[in-house]
Order: sequence, then C-alpha cells, then structure tokens
Amino acid sequence: MNKDKNAVVIVAAGSGSRARIKQSDLPKQYCKVGGRSVLQHTLDRFIDCADIHHISVVISSEAKGHYYGATEKHPKLLDPVIGGENRQESCLNGLQALSDLSPEKVLIHDAARPYVSNGIIYSVLNHIKPNIAALPASALSDTVKLAKKHNDELTVEKTIPRENLYTAQTPQGFIFKDILEAHMKAQSDGNINFTDDAAVAEWAGMSVNLIPNDERNDKITNATDLKNARERLTVNKNSIPDVRNGTGYDVHRLVDGDGLVLCGIPIDFDRKLDGHSDADVAMHALTDALLGTIVDGDIGSHFPPSDPKWKDAVSDKFLEYACKLIQKANGVITHMDVTIICEAPKIGPHRDKMRKSLSKITKVDVERISVKATTHEEIGTIGRGEGIAAMASATVVIQHGS
Ligand code: MG
Repeated sequence: MNKDKNAVVIVAAGSGSRARIKQSDLPKQYCKVGGRSVLQHTLDRFIDCADIHHISVVISSEAKGHYYGATEKHPKLLDPVIGGENRQESCLNGLQALSDLSPEKVLIHDAARPYVSNGIIYSVLNHIKPNIAALPASALSDTVKLAKKHNDELTVEKTIPRENLYTAQTPQGFIFKDILEAHMKAQSDGNINFTDDAAVAEWAGMSVNLIPNDERNDKITNATDLKNARERLTVNKNSIPDVRNGTGYDVHRLVDGDGLVLCGIPIDFDRKLDGHSDADVAMHALTDALLGTIVDGDIGSHFPPSDPKWKDAVSDKFLEYACKLIQKANGVITHMDVTIICEAPKIGPHRDKMRKSLSKITKVDVERISVKATTHEEIGTIGRGEGIAAMASATVVIQHGS
C-alpha cells in the first residue's frame, strides 16, 4: 500500500443513451461546456485537489477518439481504461488498472458530476477507514410512493416513510485493497447487478458511512442539465453577469445613382451605395455587432451574397433576424452604437431619424441607440469619397437560469 497516495476512478463508460444530447449526439460526458468537455471539468476538480495523486478514467472502447479530443494531458492522468459489459465491470477494470500504483484510498466518481467540490472530496477521503466506506448521500425530501401497474395505469400501492431514505451520489470512497477485493469477489461469484460501488462494499460486509452530500453536486443527465451547466461551470461560476459586447465593420462602394439608404433612412444624395442588397452599410455593421454578441457567425454566413434571394433585400430583414437570434439565446440588447465614416453626405441632420429607425426595427429604446459620424479627413479611399464605411458595437446581456 502506498500510504498517503490516493487515487480516483472516473467512470465515463456510459453511452449516455438516457440523455443523448441532440446538438452533438455525443454521450454527455464528451459534450463541451464553455470550451471544455464535461469530463474535463470533472477531471479539473480532482487535478486541482492536492491529495489526489492518480486519476484513472474508464471509457467505452468506441469512445477512444472522443476521449482524446475531450481531455488534456496531465501528470496525474493515467492512460484511459476500457470499460466492461456493465458499470460494475467497468469499475473493476478501473481499479485493476491502479493495482501497480497500489494507492491507500480510492474514490469512484461519475464523469457526469462536474460540480464536485474540494469540500466533498476531502469529506469523503477523511471518512474512509479500513472496512468502512464513505458515501455522500442526500435525505429524501419528497414523499415517496410505491406504485403498481394495473391495466397500463400506475396507482399508488402505499406511501413509504421517508425518514431513513437517502439517495446515493459520488464520489464514493474506499480503502483501495478492500474495494478491489470486494469487486473481484462479486465478479467471480457472478453478482454483477450492483448499481453503485457502495452496494458492492455492503455485499462484501463493509460498513458504509453516509456523509452529507453537497446539494450542488448534481449529475448531468439530460439536455436541460447540460444547458444549465453552461451557466454553472463558466460565467456564473464567479457570479459575473453574462454581458457581451460585439463589434461590426462594413464598407460599400459609392456609385452613380440615387437611393442612398443609411440606418434605414433614405438620404437625398447624388450617389448611392453599391451592393447585392440595399447596401445599407450602417445596418450591416450593426447586424454583425449583434451577431458577435451571441458568437453566431456574421451577416455573410446567414445571408450569403451568392444567394439571389437577398438581391436588393432591405437590410431591415438582416437586423431583425439578428435580433430574433439574440432573443432565442435569452439575450437582451442594452445598447447599440453606430459610427458612419464618410466625407459626404452630412449625417448630423439625419441622426435622430436614424436612431428612431433602428429603434423601430430592433425594438430597443431609442435612448439606448447612438448614431455618430466622422469624416476620413480626405485620406484614403473613404477620404476620396469612393465609399462609405461604418463601425458598430452592441451590448447584450444573456439571461441564464429560469
Ligand atoms: Mg455589407
């Protein structure tokens, strides 16, 4: 036994079929949250814990490619272990892979519980004794019913007193050689239907001590959990409001003709902007700024100029569409600022009409919309009047949770 050396087995072999996440079709542990996989978030908790020295991850044989794409190398992290026919066999494989290192204590943890805290890890480690396992558990708070099925209808058979009922979570902790022995015995005896490792320990005659679970130590089991994880594991981790700032830039060439439109306002001028759509350069820059706040490509990716559908399109459509995407992402536009860069025409006289026009399209209060203008000091292409450029920025607050 390697005293003072502890290990953790992370069980990631499940296919997650109960909670197949539609967006990627990946088992949930390989789905990305804030640029990192759920599995990597879970690994980080143990990598950061000074009293965990080795980490063994059990994966399914088909998931090798996913695993290497979803994890970062770390000295604590051993080569992945291929799981077995069921969870119990997978755990045994993970434990056996640690045999040469013979740690004193081992924790066994679900890959889909990325919120596990240092507090829980230490609480479990400190409660492990020879022949005594440590199990984080939560008392049931709902009334529990025993149901029976009759003619396709579920009815209550009886109400079960809940005083002594608890649900089991992970990490579950054991003396390494105790749990390895128990698992090997269960396997050789053909007892292969235990649903957690504490049950294997109970069967082998160990005491299992319950310790209070941290209520934040949830498991990610469905698509909603995964959506919430984005808030819990990334921005909201530090209670920072999710404020986004996007920027946009566009330029269009001036050509002969009339029909100049800026921010949706027709302007009397002897030239017009050239482009596939109505070439409203200011609205295009603003649309890009809005798309930037939700990291959703740019105006060209949503409305390709190669698509004849957008020929002579009114740019209101682009801006309205970006606003809808922001709404879908639970975003609220709090501010927009557009700068038009040209030698002529003069923008000042049209400024307030432009602000009102943008307000009407975006449904954002006109007091939160700024339109500015500057010349290019007669320098360069814009300075020579060959075109008009526009810059924009947009601020969006994404609202998470309920
Ligand atoms: Mg454009």
